[in-house]
Amino acid sequence: MNWQTVLYEKVDNIAKITLNRPDKRNAQNHQLIVELDEAMKEAERDEEVRVIVLAGAGPSFSSGHDMSGMAPEGGMAAWRMGSESHRKFEQEVFVDKCLYIRNLPKPTIAQVHGYCIAAGVMLACMCDLIVAADDAQFSNPVSRLFAASGVELIIEPWEMGVRKAKELLFTGDFIDAREAHRLGMVNRVVPKDKLEEEVMELAKKIALMPPLALSLTKMSLNRTQDIQGYSQSMSCHFDVHMLAHGSDEARSLMEAAINRGVTGAKAFSEFRDEKFKES
Ligand code: ZN
Repeated sequence: MNWQTVLYEKVDNIAKITLNRPDKRNAQNHQLIVELDEAMKEAERDEEVRVIVLAGAGPSFSSGHDMSGMAPEGGMAAWRMGSESHRKFEQEVFVDKCLYIRNLPKPTIAQVHGYCIAAGVMLACMCDLIVAADDAQFSNPVSRLFAASGVELIIEPWEMGVRKAKELLFTGDFIDAREAHRLGMVNRVVPKDKLEEEVMELAKKIALMPPLALSLTKMSLNRTQDIQGYSQSMSCHFDVHMLAHGSDEARSLMEAAINRGVTGAKAFSEFRDEKFKES
């Protein structure tokens, strides 16, 4: 368990996994995604663990994927977006590892504070419960940034209803913790300085439940969603996401950004918005 980008600790029957790239607001690079997957597997394997808490170190839960640490040798410019190798990478690293967390047989709680953006939202929503600090801010601005139909899994319509999901995905706007709670995406909102305490209290309560009964209940609830089309809609969305990556629209935007030397989500967002400001 020699992980650098995640912390793993056990408190009684609770495994607490903390995303640990605080200086990058826990942007998920390749190493973090792989280490998080290993940490989740360790928590699944350990029979003493009854509840898994997923938190973020530093000012935010997660600012999304860190694309600068994601691309193969040669960087983003060398990666032909929408190619078969790109598709395989996103399927295995972004999609399968996320759905593994969703389908874990043990209950999971996301402890969210600060920014929770794009793949950060996707990751938090893989957990069974979400407890948010009152400073939490949620957004999925990927369509605005990359012209690629949001992130790989389209969780918004399962979290808040299609009409609000459309508004958030069409605008990339933020919603705060209270709005996320009102929409049903978040279970509880608590003061930031009480977040950790409240999450551990909830985790301890759930850890007292008979583990097999809980596991079967989770399986049944997930299957209920699957019967409603959850898994199919995720697969279909991933296809659309990859189609968008290979589009002229996305490629020309990416090429223009690379030519201009734009790096980082914030700079990219400003670059992307330039032409709308001009009109
Ligand atoms: Zn993608």
